[in-house]
Amino acid sequence: MKKQFAIIGLGRFGTSICKELYHMGHEVLAIDKDEKKVEEANQFATHAIYADATDEASLIKIGIRNFEHVIVAIGEDIQASILCTLHLKDLDVPKVWVKAQNSYHHKVLEKIGADRIFHPEKDMGNRIAEFLTSEKVLDYIDLSADYSIVEILATKKVNGKSLIDLDVRAKYGCTVLAIKQKGKVDVTPNPNDPLHQGDIFVVIGNKRDLRRFQEGAL
Ligand code: ATP
Ligand code: ATP
Ligand code: CA
Repeated sequence: MKKQFAIIGLGRFGTSICKELYHMGHEVLAIDKDEKKVEEANQFATHAIYADATDEASLIKIGIRNFEHVIVAIGEDIQASILCTLHLKDLDVPKVWVKAQNSYHHKVLEKIGADRIFHPEKDMGNRIAEFLTSEKVLDYIDLSADYSIVEILATKKVNGKSLIDLDVRAKYGCTVLAIKQKGKVDVTPNPNDPLHQGDIFVVIGNKRDLRRFQEGAL
């Protein structure tokens, strides 16, 4: 089903969200107070509008209240981001997702009712650090500060072994959610089946346990 989104602030973050949603076939309204940005956005948005999102009257005129989902991607100007978020919640926009610049910004956004808060630079930094510290880690989702789901590439260490041999739960406290072998995903891995170099393990657990598992078993 087609959904309607409005993106406020066409920096790198806002622009990439805009392009992706548009590419997925959704209706996207792009908003910026920089005319040049608005002009460019016409190529990857359903509509692009020039407006100052800190001005409530302008937001109303745009018809922002008709949008169920609005993303505030104003970064540097924290005051503008906060004011804009406040207006959107006052206007009863159901889902207001906001990019935060730092932890103080995050706290204020939380208080004024932002429905979801992003820290793309910090998150990406953490992800890259995770990739840098192990070439075996292929992908990674943070569930909380302590827990993640990771995709780990198995080395020849696993050849001739099974999940039972690795004793994953008892020894490492992690759970293997799925194993990808030759492009096929097995979401109910048989603990007796032989494992092979090149298998990709999708594993959930505490980050410290995951690191032990990845270093010790794979
Ligand atoms: P990124 O890192 O994603 O490139 P950023 O975090 O550095 O972006 P800015 O460049 O500060 O964020 O802002 C993103 C966009 O938001 C800019 O194009 C800017 O013109 C726009 N913007 C800033 N304030 C407002 C406002 N009050 N109304 C509408 N757009 C605004
Ligand atoms: P458990 O109580 O740990 O689930 P179990 O006695 O029910 O074990 P199995 O589920 O057959 O026996 O698994 C035996 C061992 O194989 C587990 O203790 C665990 O170390 C490992 N194992 C099997 N499946 C998985 C999995 N999906 N993820 C992690 N380890 C697994
Ligand atoms: Ca930036």
